[in-house]
Amino acid sequence: MPSINHFQKRSLLIEQLNAEKKVGKTIGFVPTMGALHQGHLSLVEQAKKECDIVVVSIYVNPLQFNNPNDLKNYPRSLANDFSLLSNHGNIIVFCPSFDDVFPNGEEQYTLNVGEIANLLEGHYRPGHFTGVIKVVNALFNLIKPNKAYFGNKDYQQVLIVKKMVQILGQDVKIIACPTHRSKNGLAMSSRNALLSEQEGREAALIYEALKLCKEKINSLSPAELKAEASSLFENGPLKLEYLEIVSADELVPINNWEQKSICCIAAYCGKVRLIDNLMLN
Ligand code: AMP
Repeated sequence: MPSINHFQKRSLLIEQLNAEKKVGKTIGFVPTMGALHQGHLSLVEQAKKECDIVVVSIYVNPLQFNNPNDLKNYPRSLANDFSLLSNHGNIIVFCPSFDDVFPNGEEQYTLNVGEIANLLEGHYRPGHFTGVIKVVNALFNLIKPNKAYFGNKDYQQVLIVKKMVQILGQDVKIIACPTHRSKNGLAMSSRNALLSEQEGREAALIYEALKLCKEKINSLSPAELKAEASSLFENGPLKLEYLEIVSADELVPINNWEQKSICCIAAYCGKVRLIDNLMLN
């Protein structure tokens, strides 16, 4: 019978993980902010395939919200999260308080990873990645996983976490996992719970725009493609915040298709801000 082992206190989690590590068990870690969906669960499944023990953290990190209302309205559904995870086998769930994540304050986990943190999401959500780095750095120090699993849905986050690990020389392998989508193409996201049924249908336009970019890569330049895909949002129900076609390694705008490139989109569907991306070549 699958079970979940639930910890709130860092000291108890550390004790349990030390005991597992002592007998040679490998630790896979899936950091989340809860309101779990199939996208999160696909990360858990991947971790289960590759590691002996899987730790899932559920922590809505206040440091990565640049908008207090966004933090207040962020969906929370702990009971449902537990029930979803209990269907997935033997998992350790860590639901810490701020003090359990940052027992000596947050400042020591600050790291400058360079310009990449100021682009795209970093530009539109100032301070977001400073908060992401602090929480992931703190959780890596606490859990010391062998592997940690992140979704390419948050592609810039994956690049930034990899950069952090490289700069700090942390002994953890970052595994980037594919984006899970609803039938209409909308990337699964905890924030989708805040959409009405109609908004959920309208939000599929984001994936339509991404697919258009991929289809037309051989006939249009990056600038032409950006203009054409952006025009899909004109006079529509979604408010485009950005649609950028950038290099996949540094996320800077490109002039040709010689390098690996990705289209990244942020758009508001009503009050809900959604992001998505698609690798183009
Ligand atoms: P969050 O709870 O939104 O912080 O997400 C926790 C992890 O799940 C992050 O690494 C996300 O990139 C990943 N994730 C979120 N949505 C999806 C999705 N639709 N498919 C795959 N991974 C996802």
